[in-house]
Amino acid sequence: MRIYISADMEGVTGLVDADDVQPGGRDYERGRLMMAEDVNAAVEAAFAAGATEVTVNDAHGPMRNLLPEALHPEVRLVRGRPKQMGMLAGLTPEHAAMVCVGYHSRAGELGVLSHSFMGHEIEDMWLDGRPVGEIGLAHATAAAIGVPVVALTGDDRACAEMADWDASVATAPVKYARDRFAAELRPAGEARAEIRRAVAAGLAGPRGAAPRAAAPQAAAAPSVLSVRWQSASVASTLLGIPGVTATDPRTVQARGALPGLYRQFGVWMRVASSLTNQPPYC
Ligand SMILES: [Zn+2]
Repeated sequence: MRIYISADMEGVTGLVDADDVQPGGRDYERGRLMMAEDVNAAVEAAFAAGATEVTVNDAHGPMRNLLPEALHPEVRLVRGRPKQMGMLAGLTPEHAAMVCVGYHSRAGELGVLSHSFMGHEIEDMWLDGRPVGEIGLAHATAAAIGVPVVALTGDDRACAEMADWDASVATAPVKYARDRFAAELRPAGEARAEIRRAVAAGLAGPRGAAPRAAAPQAAAAPSVLSVRWQSASVASTLLGIPGVTATDPRTVQARGALPGLYRQFGVWMRVASSLTNQPPYC
């Protein structure tokens, strides 16, 4: 059983502020070790549940937050950027299940460090008309690849967003949002026990059966991805890409099948980054 872990940072135990999650921030060096500890809790639970191989994709910011030597010695780490599939790099139909560690709620929500993919540039996103952030888009894209998301860890708002999207996913709230940069923290040991519990429950499956990778959807139905940017300049520039249309001066959309549409969205973010001269926040 091969397990895939997408590891973000904003939803990690103990972290609440940009200073905790951005390189150079006052508490970043501590934050990256906290991230490794949350990931290790998920990895240990995966091996305990029968995983034969665990791939961890560092999915935050520079994607070089996790130090290999701080991780469980058997982890296969996907590290660095750019990666064409970003937060889902390395996910293949051979994986039996995906676990999201350290995830956060979408832009506009009152969750800890909430945003969607970029810190400021993206105001809202929709998949087939449904509000979506990193959680929903990861779930939908993984499903198109043929891999179920079975567990997610983050603050209580991220867990609620996952439950809204797919109530069958096991969730582990490691902190409770008190505002966008404030939380009531669960003690670290308790939070990591919760991560182990959620991963074990997710891999056991809702009916006690280990998840089996579904056949990849050979002809996945096309989806429509819409993104409302803070900057009309970004939207205007994206209209130069064939298939991209505007619904208003700051909102663009494209129709296509996942996971290809997810990859195209990565290109949109690169365009936005170069125009705004601001590295992606996440
Ligand atoms: Zn992030």
